[in-house]
Amino acid sequence: MSAIVGGVELDRRAVDDLATAFGGALIRPDDPTYDEQRLIWNGSIDRRPGLIARCAGVADVISAVRFAREHEQLVAVRSGGHSYPGLCVCDRGMVIDLGQMKGIRVDPQARTARAQAGVLLGDLDREAQAFGLAVPAGIVTHTGLAGLTLGGGIGWLERKYGLTIDQLVSVDVVTAEGEFVRASEEENVDLFWGVRGGGGNFGIVTEFEFRLNPVGPMVFAGPVVWAMEDCPKVLRFYREWIKEVPDELTTIVTHRRVPPVPAMPEELHGRHVVMVGTCYSGPGEEGESVLEPLRKFGSPLLDRCAPMAFTTHQAALDPSFPYYWWYYIRSCNLAELTDEVIDALVDHGLRIASPLTVFSIYHLGGAVARVGEDETAFGGRDAGHTVNVIGITSTSDGFEQEREWARGLWSALQPHHQHVYVNFLMEEGEVRIREAYGAAKYDRLKALKREYDPNNFFRLNQNIPPN
Ligand SMILES: Cc1cc2nc3c(=O)[nH]c(=O)nc-3n(C[C@H](O)[C@H](O)[C@H](O)COP(=O)(O)OP(=O)(O)OC[C@H]3O[C@@H](n4cnc5c(N)ncnc54)[C@H](O)[C@@H]3O)c2cc1C
Repeated sequence: MSAIVGGVELDRRAVDDLATAFGGALIRPDDPTYDEQRLIWNGSIDRRPGLIARCAGVADVISAVRFAREHEQLVAVRSGGHSYPGLCVCDRGMVIDLGQMKGIRVDPQARTARAQAGVLLGDLDREAQAFGLAVPAGIVTHTGLAGLTLGGGIGWLERKYGLTIDQLVSVDVVTAEGEFVRASEEENVDLFWGVRGGGGNFGIVTEFEFRLNPVGPMVFAGPVVWAMEDCPKVLRFYREWIKEVPDELTTIVTHRRVPPVPAMPEELHGRHVVMVGTCYSGPGEEGESVLEPLRKFGSPLLDRCAPMAFTTHQAALDPSFPYYWWYYIRSCNLAELTDEVIDALVDHGLRIASPLTVFSIYHLGGAVARVGEDETAFGGRDAGHTVNVIGITSTSDGFEQEREWARGLWSALQPHHQHVYVNFLMEEGEVRIREAYGAAKYDRLKALKREYDPNNFFRLNQNIPPN
């Protein structure tokens, strides 16, 4: 008896043997849950793997890697399943899925946390915030911690506490050989350098150890919203104002149409707006006074800044990015919001058609820029801003139009591109991946790849080929 898995004919007994010894579940195409299990967050990705190995622990990850090697399977690695281009799922081949590995242990005395690869950002926030602590990470709670960390990790605490990788203490890794290794500042130092920005190129990380920092539990946060027509004035004010703000404040500017949701006043539904989202992670009274000039600028349509639980703020954008809508992203870093950049943003902002489409501009600097560019594999610590243009529709209807719009804005910004954040890339080819790291760092990453994965076993990622 034989089964077809990923295009290679396998002895069914080999698959059955793997299933028997496996602590988690092996999902094959004839499994009743297969169609549910192969879905990922981005509904525009529709792939059919030959096997989904839902690992229960490190032993399963080792077995899955060794099995895939032995049977020459193409491998995709999935943790939170939020890869924009869907690199966590393959056609044919094998998905090694760590989504079930959700263990978290916070040590409030040592101010550290251990988190397994299947943990989502909201899971870690909940555990750490029980002690008034946090790891700086992303802005949507259902994003996977693993993929986000391995690419760098930007979010509401970045200017105060840096990137997610800046708080990383150690990682447990299963290599392409199926060996278990640990990497930190003391052991496998080169690997530790590489996983801090180099993505999933060097192995499967099964567990992360982070330093925790005091945050909240209350923060002063929320958006201030103006009509898009006011955007040229608002952004000119904003670019001067952010030069003076303390690192406790991180802001993200978003352009969109107001979605028709009960949380937004009905008279604003559908209106093109620019909003500055804020999070002040120091004392509330201080936050209120730091934000005063922004809140008083011009004539805001809405001001929702207020003291709130950090976990509430972290979840505020979740409804804008639900599972299974169709998403297309283009991204770049910008040094500054120059007049030409602002003109392009306003021009394309006013032409947003879908009420779901957004583009966001993260303000970087602060603690991100204080870590040396060569200390970690992450590229672009000198970025002024990271722009994230996302064309969104709820189904395939209208998706092509949103994709074209996103490409149009990205192209209009092209003369101003600084570099790009690797976690915001689609499948854009080697030139763009090199841009994310810069030429020298890219070559160093290639050398590391030759050491840890010379046959490019882990290639469904923002790939750094060994040669
Ligand atoms: C709604 C949304 C919001 C986002 N917001 C932010 C944000 O605020 N800040 C930010 O920095 N990024 C953000 N991102 C981007 C995010 O960092 C990446 O999409 C990241 O890959 C998600 O991690 P994941 O575990 O869900 O990825 P998955 O889709 O599971 O994996 C993506 C890739 O990461 C690698 N990978 C995943 N797990 C492992 C592992 N355990 N070991 C080795 N390699 C692995 C693999 O190469 C895989 O292809 C956001 C993405 C989405 C969809």
